[in-house]
Amino acid sequence: MNDGKWRRSGKRLGASTILAFLFLAPGMVWGVESLKSKPGFNLFKMQQDVQLGKENAEQIDKELPLVTDPQVLRYINDLGRRLASLAPHNNSEYAWTFKVVNSSDINAFALPGGYIYVNRGAIVAAENEAQIAGVMAHESGHVVMRHGTHAVSQALLAQAPLAILGGILGQTGSLTAQLAEMGLGLGVNSILLKNSRSAESQADEVGTYILYQAGYDPHAMAQFFEIVEKKYPQKTIQFFADHPVPENRIKVVDSEIPRLGPAKEWKTDSPEFEATKERLLSLPATPAPPASAGSSGPPPLPSSRLIKFEGKGFSIDYPDNWQMQQNEDAVALIPPGGIVEDAESGSAQAYGTSISRFQPQSSRQGNWGLIDATQELLDTMRLSNPNLRVIKQGGMKLEGRAALSTLLETDSPLQGQKERDLLVTTRQSDSLFSLIFIAPESLFDAYKPTFDAMLQSLELQ
Ligand SMILES: [Zn+2]
Repeated sequence: MNDGKWRRSGKRLGASTILAFLFLAPGMVWGVESLKSKPGFNLFKMQQDVQLGKENAEQIDKELPLVTDPQVLRYINDLGRRLASLAPHNNSEYAWTFKVVNSSDINAFALPGGYIYVNRGAIVAAENEAQIAGVMAHESGHVVMRHGTHAVSQALLAQAPLAILGGILGQTGSLTAQLAEMGLGLGVNSILLKNSRSAESQADEVGTYILYQAGYDPHAMAQFFEIVEKKYPQKTIQFFADHPVPENRIKVVDSEIPRLGPAKEWKTDSPEFEATKERLLSLPATPAPPASAGSSGPPPLPSSRLIKFEGKGFSIDYPDNWQMQQNEDAVALIPPGGIVEDAESGSAQAYGTSISRFQPQSSRQGNWGLIDATQELLDTMRLSNPNLRVIKQGGMKLEGRAALSTLLETDSPLQGQKERDLLVTTRQSDSLFSLIFIAPESLFDAYKPTFDAMLQSLELQ
């Protein structure tokens, strides 16, 4: 977050879309005809989904630690294939291969063509079979809706005319290599894994449908996502970065369920699930992710060694494992990985400090107050952060000057998380000097001592 310097405006599903969604429910049409969604625009053939998925799976198998326990793999593959066999828009070409990543983070992802990865942490966090079935049914939804190759198709279309694409994608050889040549990186940080909110809604819709057909309580999927997001905010960062939470997830999913058919006596758990969970809990602790696994997990905590940054008219100390980015009207001090790239909302600072000067409108009249000018800055920030909320505000001293400290809450660019911001403002000649200290809510307390030390080191001219 910050005052709009690093954040481009995001597209959000508007309230009217949600309403349309709810009122469209056509009563008694049950079964696959009741699915609203179909796979979207796609330049790839179905077999190419499988080829691309296979090539990337080979890459990912090298990048991520996998559970090799045969009993766990048999259970997950039996369950996964049973669910996939009920998926709409299924295709006999799909591989439907399920692997378990040996990580305590709660995550799951699907490659095109039916290569699905579920983290050990997700299985252990599930309270029963219906919940983990929900996760796997959701991932199967990404496969049958072809979200991976749909996203690549859109990216390709943006950079090359169709005629050229037809030629390239028609060739034989490694698709992954051809796409890499066009600048589309693959592996664990691939565009194949970054879902849009609308893709998420579709995967929810398919996942709910599959759960119903398989005899599980179809509420289990959305409930699991909501529970783990609240209960384990630090373990779900990657999941919600790749699977942005659709607005009103539970409500929208609940409204789908009556269209699927009459309520049944739901299956909730199985002895096989409980045995698998126990087996995973008894395996040795999960290894630390390799450095190449990229953006999984939060940045390392701030170093206690501080270095000085000399800016225009001020200086401040900051942790020596952070980086500095500067443009003409703002300075950002950022931990590694503290900027989040998101296909829908652009790039935004999720951790660190942003320092800038603000020119209040009221300054034109010469005589202006700190509180009014800070209010004006907050109004400006709300243009790109409509959910920005003041938690508390109070006076403080900054190098002997009157200053205002404002604690804020807003949506973090880390999908599905809340963010805390400490805004400190003071007057510096005719402008408002502002520092924003940023961290996800769950980590704010861990960053607070660093933020305090930085504030104490501030020197203003
Ligand atoms: Zn998803």
